[in-house]
Order: sequence, then structure tokens, then C-alpha cells
Amino acid sequence: MRKSLAAFATTGLLAAAVSVAVTPASADPAHLPGGPCLQPDQNVSLSSVAGYDDVVQVLDRIERTSNGLVTVDSAGASGEGRQLLYATVGTGPTVVWVHSRIHGNELHSTEAALQILDYLSGGSQAARLIRENLTVVMIPMYNPDGAEANIRQSTTPNRIDLNRDWENFAQPESVAFWRLWRDVGPHLALDLHHMGQAPIVNGTNDLNQFQIGARSIDPSRMTAQQWLTNRQMAMVSVDALDQYGLANVAHYPIIDITNAALSRMLMSGTAPAGEQPVAQTPTRGAIFYEVRSVGQKSNGQLENLFRIPTMAVLTAAADGSLFSYDVSDYANLPFATQGPCGQ
Ligand SMILES: [Zn+2]
Repeated sequence: MRKSLAAFATTGLLAAAVSVAVTPASADPAHLPGGPCLQPDQNVSLSSVAGYDDVVQVLDRIERTSNGLVTVDSAGASGEGRQLLYATVGTGPTVVWVHSRIHGNELHSTEAALQILDYLSGGSQAARLIRENLTVVMIPMYNPDGAEANIRQSTTPNRIDLNRDWENFAQPESVAFWRLWRDVGPHLALDLHHMGQAPIVNGTNDLNQFQIGARSIDPSRMTAQQWLTNRQMAMVSVDALDQYGLANVAHYPIIDITNAALSRMLMSGTAPAGEQPVAQTPTRGAIFYEVRSVGQKSNGQLENLFRIPTMAVLTAAADGSLFSYDVSDYANLPFATQGPCGQ
């Protein structure tokens, strides 16, 4: 992971990867429903995946070399005492929150977040546009204890799903990031996840590599404006991935989970002990991505599947096109069905 980030830092490969086509599948022999696949007895190597120490080092390096464009702070401490690090880049009026790896064993979103941050600290026209129009709050590792343990949940004082904790606030991570959310008041939020190995787009034989989560709660719990913005964020993401070509996007299954972080950003109404709920949420849109998960395999492609739609949303928010984006295709997005990998 250090190697790949160093490569991005020194060659500007990020821009190339975003704008140019695509890692061909030639290294991955085609089979239905596609691979590569993790074998049942296979150990997942974490050595090529960003760990907590990598996050600390990379954020420090980006901050030091950004000429003041990026600042890194801590929102608090995890249950095991790790810093809950986040970076801020840009001075624009629209605040965009991106968090990665609220589920510790969903590996590649951390690396993608760091790559995006690296890009946003650079000298390109696109990065400058985003910095002028947005303030991006980037959280590369929401759940550092779970990430180090390679489990979904937190570790201590409670081993629970941090994405079901914005009603009870049983964990210090939830309290810290709720306070950060209140203090920075994000207008838009993205939450990066991994799903199963090999879903298939319904009605096709296509390997579904990306699912769009435009609704963590039923739309009836949102304002009409929030539901529209969520679909606009979704369709900007989907259309960017359609151009990328390998994603075979599907709709995430229908859920209505009120205690997820994004859900409470949209709904407000809850607060940690001793705090007041935010009277009127600033959050106008909040959606999540689910990228296919195959452990340490296909790292680069999986990172692209996070980075491309995230950059598309940031760019569309920065140039304003997001807020008039056509959502008529949203209702036609297919769903997918989980299947065995490589058979
Ligand atoms: Zn997840």
C-alpha cells in the first residue's frame, strides 16, 4: 500500500486512472460469474491494504506537502485509543463529508480515500475547482480498531456495528464523529463499503461490481429535496461508472435502517448523552457505495470503483451540475443477486 500511494504521489497516476480507460481484465481470466475469487481456505493478506499506521503516515505526508491546502485533525479517540483522523481540503461553501471503512474488514475504501485526498491537494484544474467550491472532510478510517482486527464491528468497549450506532451512541467513535458532523455541517455525505464477492445483475450474466445505495432509509423519512439530491448523487455516480465500463452497476437492496450514520445525518433527531440533537440537519444528500469484495485481489480495480464515482460527485457538486442532474433513469436501475464466485 505504501508503494501504490507513493506511485500515485510521484507520478500523478490518479488523474490518469480517473480519466483514462481501465485496467483490462486480461490478468483475470473470465469465468461466470467472474473472478478473481477468494478460496474458502485462503488467508486474506492485509500487507497490501492500508492499515492504521499507513493512514497516520500518509495523512502526515499529504498535510506536510500540501502547502497548507490540507489540514489533518483528530475527532477523538477510538475505544482502543487510536486517533480518529480526518483531513480537510478546500474552502468552498458546500461541505462534503466522505467516510471510509466504518466496517473494519471492508478493505479498499481507505486507500481510495487517501488517493482522492492526495489528488485534491495537487495542482490540477479539477482539484482547484473542487477546492474553490467545496470543503471536503475526508475520513479514511472511521473504525481503526475494527480495521486493525479485520472485523466489521468496533472492538471495545462494545463490539458492535458502528453503522448501527447513531441512535444509542454506545461507542466513542460514534460520539466523536457525530460531534464532527454537527460542527462541520456537511451538505453532502458519502459512505464507502464493500459487499459480497460475486453478485450477478438480475436478468443478465454480468458480474455486479458496484451497488449504489441512494436510500439507507425509506424516502418517506426524507424531505423531497433530500430524496432528489440522493438520486442525483446516485445517478452522477452510476453514469461515471458506466463510462468506466466494468462496474455493471446495480441498486443496493431496499432497506430502512434509521440508526445508520447516513440515516441520522438526513433525519437528525438523535444525539449522544449530554448533547442536543441538531434542530435542522444541514445534510441535503447522503448516499453509500458498495464495491465487490475479494480480499487482497484486484486492489487497483476495486479502488477505482470507489474513486471514480466519488470524484464524479465531488466534481458535479463543485461545478453545480449535481443539483440539476437528471434522475429519470434511477427507477430503471437493476438489482442483483448474490451467487457463488467463479462457478
Ligand atoms: Zn459495510
